[in-house]
Amino acid sequence: MYAIKRRLKLNNKERTLMAKHAGFARYTYNFGLNLYNSIDHTTVKSSVSKKLTTIKKILTNITKRQSENAWMNELSSKVYQSSFQHLGTAISKWLAGEAKRPVYKSRKDGQSFTVYDGNGVVTLDCGKKIKIPTLGTFRLWESLDARYVTQTFTLSCRAGEWYVSFAVNAERIPPLFHQVQKTIGIDLGVKMFATLSDGTEYSAPKPFKKAKTKLAKKQWRNRKKQSGNRKKDVKTSNNAKKFYQSVAKQHAHIANVRYDFLQKTTTEISRKYSHIRIEDLNVSGMIANHKLASAVSDLGFYEFRRQLTYKSPIYSTKVEIIDRWYPSSKMCHNCHHIQPMPLNERWFKCENCVHVNCRDWNAALNLADAPNDKVRLA
Ligand SMILES: [Zn+2]
Repeated sequence: MYAIKRRLKLNNKERTLMAKHAGFARYTYNFGLNLYNSIDHTTVKSSVSKKLTTIKKILTNITKRQSENAWMNELSSKVYQSSFQHLGTAISKWLAGEAKRPVYKSRKDGQSFTVYDGNGVVTLDCGKKIKIPTLGTFRLWESLDARYVTQTFTLSCRAGEWYVSFAVNAERIPPLFHQVQKTIGIDLGVKMFATLSDGTEYSAPKPFKKAKTKLAKKQWRNRKKQSGNRKKDVKTSNNAKKFYQSVAKQHAHIANVRYDFLQKTTTEISRKYSHIRIEDLNVSGMIANHKLASAVSDLGFYEFRRQLTYKSPIYSTKVEIIDRWYPSSKMCHNCHHIQPMPLNERWFKCENCVHVNCRDWNAALNLADAPNDKVRLA
């Protein structure tokens, strides 16, 4: 089992629909928890699931029928079925001593809900649309590349963007034919995001730098804002609130651009190449260099590797990691001569055989040809 996650392309009406369902899921969870807590458990001796079934009946037969709750009938009942399931799991875990006592959910916990189709599995078609049972058909930013079979859909909102994720069985996906069977090395860099040993290049999306400058400017302009302080009884000013909201939005924008880029790139690479080699990321070395560390975390090298690895069973690719001490960027691919390579040097000019190559491409070629004792499976 693994999960597939896609960002939804929603219009305002659809966004409202999602928010309403998230609210409904939260309402029913809290409704169930409230009634569960009000039960005198010393006298009522039945299982958690039986108690919750009774509570669910109260919701469907009484609460939902009250005129002030008419809004509930416009929303999917599959959503509150899942809410009750989640609540049941939370209570059981608490009773078994595996988790803390369940608490009421608030808007601040983030918006999410689950649609579980009890009628059986749902087949999803390839393409840029997804049909979610009882909710409708929605557009996707990145299309589904195969037909999937699933039963549970989780919708969640992260920084203003809605995502759908669903679990599928890896065994059910037909094996893919890879266009390139040869071993391919991938060099990750700050200038060019990824350089492949066959010459393909992926440059990182531009918005990062621009967005970062914008953010810094905004922070400076709002440096005198009045932030709240509960101990000193100071309230957050409206301008400060506006500022925090817009900062969150900007961060979300950066995160979304990066997320889309990494998803698209790793899917494309996993589909095209059957055998991929990437360098081990030298964490300590990179963090020592602060400028580089910021660039690395910005670009998402770790996320890139993680996505390639988790996509490997889906696309049946082989992903290998090359030892971090293997001198991929310092070695001439032509004659294996090793020479120092300062970070700002874009060209590898071999001092031994006069071979000249682009720095990243030279490294990618070396990764592809790395000796077996320097290679391990991701
Ligand atoms: Zn050489």
